[in-house]
Amino acid sequence: MKTKSILSYVEWIAGDQKEMLSQVEAWSNINTSSTHVEGLHKQMKLLKQAFKVLNGKMEEISMAPLEQVQSNGKIKHVPLGKILSITKHPKAPIQVFLGGHMDTVFSPSSPFQACKQIDGNTLQGPGVADMKGGLAIMLKALEALEKSPWGGKIGWQILINPDEEIGSVNSASFIREAAQHKQLGLLFEPAYPNGTLVSSRKGSANYTIIAQGKAAHVGRDFAAGHNAIVKLARLICEINDLNDPDSGITVNVGVIKGGEAVNIVPDLASCRINIRAVNLEDFFLIKETLFNILATLNEHSDVTLTLYQQGERSPKIFDEQHRHLFVNLRKTSLILGAGIDWKPSGGVCDGNILFEAGVPSIDTLGAIGGNIHTQEEYILIDSLVQRAQLTALFLMQLESMSGANE
Ligand SMILES: [Zn+2]
Repeated sequence: MKTKSILSYVEWIAGDQKEMLSQVEAWSNINTSSTHVEGLHKQMKLLKQAFKVLNGKMEEISMAPLEQVQSNGKIKHVPLGKILSITKHPKAPIQVFLGGHMDTVFSPSSPFQACKQIDGNTLQGPGVADMKGGLAIMLKALEALEKSPWGGKIGWQILINPDEEIGSVNSASFIREAAQHKQLGLLFEPAYPNGTLVSSRKGSANYTIIAQGKAAHVGRDFAAGHNAIVKLARLICEINDLNDPDSGITVNVGVIKGGEAVNIVPDLASCRINIRAVNLEDFFLIKETLFNILATLNEHSDVTLTLYQQGERSPKIFDEQHRHLFVNLRKTSLILGAGIDWKPSGGVCDGNILFEAGVPSIDTLGAIGGNIHTQEEYILIDSLVQRAQLTALFLMQLESMSGANE
């Protein structure tokens, strides 16, 4: 099929910019903090209404509560929202996974709760870029695909999870399962402010470490106490030495808690750390080193250090398969008149999970925007239409690309 005729299947999307914008506004005006179940349920309702137009098989998937280790070492069970799954054409020869998340980082107590259009092409609001704009783009792109002659030739499954911003700890297994037998993953995380996409991503793991010692009165019985803070401090200094910015290895001690008063030897202290690495070898090595440090410090010690893993996503490597995919996307973007670029990121997303599952993905097909996770988060309104057209065209061309060799 000629380029000119292909374009005609996505040009109409431009006329839907207003509709897409009001979708993003309505969705972003709902607070969907990852643990705000009430807001997530509301969002689910609106998403189901909007995505009905695709005529796919819809399913709500419940998840077990999240097990969160508290600073006192106790486990708290945090209820989560549900996953929305929509499937269509499961027998088509090409199967695509489309992923997104409905949660944001803004809690119900944050002052940032509603959208505001700040100029002709900029919408500011909680989650407009990360990633309610992306959800509107995903929907419109699939709508275009289904209306086109390629509708039915490409099977797809959408998975929209409610816990991405807290590491997709509980939804990861559903993503892996859905990714099976899919040739490709498309995720709608925001692109960089200049439109550049993310190529590779670091791996990232979070841990909570609890130090348990023995309390004692400082004046009466100091020697009977075992100081949990001092032990934890020793650990922290050792793991901080693992930082190696030149190789992209980072170890960040982000939270520390412990102690009650200066006249008590503290029996409990905790810290939360994040480790990141560019490649799998470093990622495993840094984890192993951390476990070894902990084991050594626990030998013949009166203070016990216990480590809890709180979510992990392996590195996403920009391999030959990914390069091929991005080159094809660039070709598609040139049909629309604007090329695209890509560059690595230290941040993680569900694209890391897809890589682990063996499915190549492009994970930043969402809106162009910036200042994500801050109260200045924004999108460029015209990127809604642009990226929906790009995604739709890319999907329509998959059939011809799948056989072609780069
Ligand atoms: Zn996101």
